[in-house]
Amino acid sequence: MNERMHPSRNGNDSARPQNPGTRERNVSQVLDSNALDHTDGEGKPIPVTIPIALCDHVTVVYTTRLGGVSTGDYASCNVGGRGGDDPVSVGANRSALARQLHARISLVSQVHSGIAADADLFSDNAAYGYDFSGGAHGDRGPAPAVKADGQVSARAGVALGMFAADCLPVLLADPQAGVIAAAHCGRKGLQAGILANTIGMMRSKGARTDSIVATLGPRICGDCYEVGSDIADEFDSQFPGTYTLTTYGGPGIDIAQAALQELHRAGVDHIVDSRGRIDAATQYLDHDEELSALCQADGEASPVLGQRVQDMKNSLCTVENPLWYSHRRAALAHKSHEGRLLAFIVRED
Ligand SMILES: [Zn+2]
Repeated sequence: MNERMHPSRNGNDSARPQNPGTRERNVSQVLDSNALDHTDGEGKPIPVTIPIALCDHVTVVYTTRLGGVSTGDYASCNVGGRGGDDPVSVGANRSALARQLHARISLVSQVHSGIAADADLFSDNAAYGYDFSGGAHGDRGPAPAVKADGQVSARAGVALGMFAADCLPVLLADPQAGVIAAAHCGRKGLQAGILANTIGMMRSKGARTDSIVATLGPRICGDCYEVGSDIADEFDSQFPGTYTLTTYGGPGIDIAQAALQELHRAGVDHIVDSRGRIDAATQYLDHDEELSALCQADGEASPVLGQRVQDMKNSLCTVENPLWYSHRRAALAHKSHEGRLLAFIVRED
């Protein structure tokens, strides 16, 4: 039996990515993740995801590049509909995630703004909220997209998703009030106050800031995010201490540090670190055939994947860790396109 056909809902208890994690009872199989098929018996994709238990009844799930049906520069679990990928592939990847999450997926059209949207007002209207940019809805013409970079919900069974490929997704929950949120925190969104606005909407739906738990998802790190000195100066004046000198030698910024400052300013100090789980998942996949093949296709065959994972400084960094889609890494690989990951937060009943 192919156990990848039966993604576990209880993957939270495992340090491994969700689908390989279902195999942990059989040690000999755990040692060979490559025996896993990428599609189920009906040819549907089985995304490899990393779940993190944020707090009671609330789970955060990060998608990786693995386990989908997209090909070429988008391989293989691209969930972004704007980058030119085949909408049928994007839709299949998203549908597979909805099945795995046992939840309706709510997406918005992200525009690097400070706008937070109440997902409870629109998430019942379409299979994927109002994001028609990809998947099966792509041929419906101009869509009434909700333009926002934060989503808030007081419902169970709705997976709020934020796309990213270097920008920082921040996931938040007040487990007492049952209010969850996801925010897309790029440089511009942070400067526009996306976190304060998202937390403000959580409060308007009954959350208390001192009950909110947050975690920061995969993002480009301060060592890798090179920007012009003017931009770095401006960002640092708003978020002191976030100016960096990157490994490329130029000025950069640390968007995760800025997000932590914003959370603290808003009264949110309970931060769960996603890194331990992501470290473990990355090490688990350090000989994965699909991931190795993706690295080779990106011209990153050397050092081999296992060595690269050992040498990695920050598994959360989208540039450093090949598990994630990264706009910057794709550009370095001279690719004209790249996919998007999704960071989800969902509350169970
Ligand atoms: Zn980095």
